[in-house]
Amino acid sequence: MDSVYFDHASTTPVDDGVLEEILPYYKQQFGNADSAHQFGRATKVAIEDARELVAKLIGAEPSEIIFTSGGTESDNAAIKGVVNATRKTEVITSPIEHHAVIHPAESLKMKGCKVTYLEPDSTGMITPEQVKEAISDETAIVSLMHVNNEIGTILPIKEIAATCKERKVPFHSDTVQSVGKMPLNVKELGVDLLSMSGHKIYGPKGIGVLYVKNGTPWLPWLQGGSQERRRRGGTSNVAGIVGMAEALNYCIANLDAHRTHYSNLRGKLIDGLEERLKGRYRINGPVDDGVPHIINLSFPMEDATTEKGLDGEMLLLNLDIEGICVSNGSACTSGAVEPSHVLKGIGLPDKLANSSIRISFGKDNTLEQVQFFLDKLDDVLSRMTKVPS
Ligand SMILES: *Cc1c(COP(=O)(O)O)cnc(C)c1O
Repeated sequence: MDSVYFDHASTTPVDDGVLEEILPYYKQQFGNADSAHQFGRATKVAIEDARELVAKLIGAEPSEIIFTSGGTESDNAAIKGVVNATRKTEVITSPIEHHAVIHPAESLKMKGCKVTYLEPDSTGMITPEQVKEAISDETAIVSLMHVNNEIGTILPIKEIAATCKERKVPFHSDTVQSVGKMPLNVKELGVDLLSMSGHKIYGPKGIGVLYVKNGTPWLPWLQGGSQERRRRGGTSNVAGIVGMAEALNYCIANLDAHRTHYSNLRGKLIDGLEERLKGRYRINGPVDDGVPHIINLSFPMEDATTEKGLDGEMLLLNLDIEGICVSNGSACTSGAVEPSHVLKGIGLPDKLANSSIRISFGKDNTLEQVQFFLDKLDDVLSRMTKVPS
C-alpha cells in the first residue's frame, strides 16, 4: 500500500478543482490588484468575487471579510486588534487553544495585560457559565476555539457568544478546524470575530480569513498599503484568496458526504481497536460527541527497552517507517520533548500524554487504509512493548 496520510488536522492537499481555479492567477492573471490597468482590474474582480463567496458561505457581509496569511495571523490580529482598540486589559481564553492564540495572549501579558485561562474538563469542554463567571469590567476579549485541533472537542460557541454579548465583550473563535467541516453561520452563532485557514480545508497554504463583525472594536494589526480597506496591508495573495473561497465552497458543498465518510472511518478504527487492543488504548478527549475526523489515542503500556511508558514519538516514527503518517501534539522545546499542552490542559498524566498519537482523517482516506493502520499498529506495538528475553 502507498503511504497512508492520517494527518489532515496538520494540513491537507489542495483539491484538484481548487488547483484548477487558482493556476491562472500565477501566470496569465498575475496583476497586482491595486494596479489601475487591465491586469490589476482583472485580479481585483477575482478578489472581490472571492470575498463575496466567502461572506455568503458563512452568512457574513463582504465588508466583514479580511484576507490574511492564515489561521495564525487571523488569531493574532483578532486578539491584538481588539485589545488595542478597547484599551481594556484582560484576555479570557483557555490552556488548550492553539498556540496561535496562547502565544499572542502571553505576549500581551508581558505588556501588562491579564490573561485568564478557563479550565477545561477532562474532555476539553468549557461551559458558557465558566465564561460568564470570568468576565469582568476589564475584559477586552474572550477567545475560545470552536473545534479543538488535537482532541476534537466541540465547544458551545453559540451559547458562549450569547454570554459575551450580554456583557458587551467581543468574542473571537478560532474556527480553523470547524469551518467547512460542520455547518457554520456567523449570524446564527453570534460571534464577533472568527479565524479560518485555507490549507486545513483543501485550499492553499499561506491564506486565511479573519471575519470581523461590523461595529466590533478592532484596529488593524498589519499596516502598509490600503489593501483590504486599510485593514491588512500587503500586496494581495490573489491565487490564495481565490483558492480560499473555492476550497470553502467545495468543502461546504460536500460537508454531509465528508462527515458521513469520517464517521465510517472512525467507526472502523474504534471497532478494530476494541477488537485488538481492548484495555490497552484510550481515547483522549470526547469519545462520542467530538468531531469524527480527529481521534487522539494514548497507549498505557510499558516500552520494551526503557521500561518507561510507551513513547508516542517513537510510535509515530515506527508507524512512519511502515508508511503511516500520524501526528502527536508534543513540541520539541530546547531539546526535550514536552507533552502536548492540550493533553496536559485536560489533566492527562504526563505518562499517558507522552504515549499519544493523533489520527486525523481526510476525504480521500479509505476503510482499507484504516485496516492497514490497525494491522501495522498491532505489529509496531508488539515490537515496541515486547519483553526482551
Ligand atoms: C492549523 C491551525 C492554526 C494555524 O493556521 P495556519 O494557517 O497554519 O497559520 C490555528 N488554529 C488551529 C486550530 C489550527 O488547527
